[in-house]
Amino acid sequence: MDICITISNDRPELTIDNVRYICRPMEGGPVRIPWHFPVGEGSYPPERWYVATWHDLTGVRNDGYRHTGIDINLDVSPWGDVERALNLSVFAVDDGVVTYSTMNWSGVPMVVIRHEHEGVPIWVRYAHVTCYLRAGAIVHQGDILGGFADWPGKGDHLHFDMARDPFTREWLDPDILWVDPVPVLKAHLDSDVVDAMLRKS
Ligand SMILES: [Zn+2]
Repeated sequence: MDICITISNDRPELTIDNVRYICRPMEGGPVRIPWHFPVGEGSYPPERWYVATWHDLTGVRNDGYRHTGIDINLDVSPWGDVERALNLSVFAVDDGVVTYSTMNWSGVPMVVIRHEHEGVPIWVRYAHVTCYLRAGAIVHQGDILGGFADWPGKGDHLHFDMARDPFTREWLDPDILWVDPVPVLKAHLDSDVVDAMLRKS
């Protein structure tokens, strides 16, 4: 096979065995790979949730509270432990593999799942979730990971953080490449819904 690439009028041209192909840029921008919203079902769709705590490694956005991810809460009275009372679930946003899980991450259960974002792995921690999956378990998009866990005196929520490095129990570790979950969620979900969730915070 004879392959030749040339540039003509600023456009690459590809010739394979004397057949000429003109390369055009992709139209419509990058394709959005849809994810499942990590919480929200039935009468409580994504529109009903809000972010109570931001991804904030410095404390500037959270009134001094440094935090690796976002805390997602149901915007329904009475605020606090309503997610558990309603028996709501937490879902895997995409296909993935469990890389770590524990029943006691400072008193709450959590699981770390390796998913993919922009074609490379991203490790996502779902915490305060009654998840019994062990490392090595395969999950599929939309699988129920568990229910909301009790955090006595502090209120039910999904703690959702992510990093480009494989991590387990780490918290604010400067050696880990933490990623703000908001732009990542926006890349895979309806960004209006994600914005609405943030506006309520
Ligand atoms: Zn949190």
